[in-house]
Amino acid sequence: MITEIKKYLYDLFHPCMGEVWQLHRVTHTVSVNIRDREYEITPERLEQLILAYLNNDYHFVSVELIKRMVEKQRYPFKFVAVTLDDGYADNYEEAYPIFKKYNIPFCIFLTRDFILHGHKDYRMLSSDAISNLCSDPLCTFGSHTVSHPHLAQLPTDEQAKQIADCNQWLEPLIDRSVSVMAYPYGSYNASTLKVMPPTISLAFAAWGGAIRKGKRYSLLQVPRVLITQEQPLIDIPVR
Ligand SMILES: [Zn+2]
Repeated sequence: MITEIKKYLYDLFHPCMGEVWQLHRVTHTVSVNIRDREYEITPERLEQLILAYLNNDYHFVSVELIKRMVEKQRYPFKFVAVTLDDGYADNYEEAYPIFKKYNIPFCIFLTRDFILHGHKDYRMLSSDAISNLCSDPLCTFGSHTVSHPHLAQLPTDEQAKQIADCNQWLEPLIDRSVSVMAYPYGSYNASTLKVMPPTISLAFAAWGGAIRKGKRYSLLQVPRVLITQEQPLIDIPVR
């Protein structure tokens, strides 16, 4: 009971100001494996969600703006930042037209080996798609490591290599420096934070909920909300 009251009071004084969405595949294909469905949403459902948030006065913002707002703990409006992990081909084919239609900034976190060597189950972004996305200021690319490991399970030097080698591959490809990353599976530990290259100034966890007013976040541990096909369209402001 006391815990519930404490949580109620905490939530009351730290209202949700916005969310960083974590998406993966935007597709009509429904995976046979139920666990894989957690990482899928149809283009129609994504568009419905976007409209529901817009109708609730949310602003869709870039990850760069999220960084500034979280750093200053100043949230002038309710916001959503859209991020997509891994680099699936459907991000370009299915999601991008929706983002263009509503002028929504988005950030795609690329895993080097999925892009270079392919994924065993899914089509990944081609170099042409990456280059087309690069020419659109709505799109930011970030790092999602070399081979998508659980970083927290690796020795420190291997963690450093996973992050540094992905950046080294990505920077010439997109012709700009990489300042943002997402931890695969949301896995990181104190060593990860220690070996983070100084060029990376913003890193996202997986899950962790909404961004709340009055709560201080580390810029290398910003929470996200996993968005799936089951995401309800109602009760948005109270989540
Ligand atoms: Zn991932």
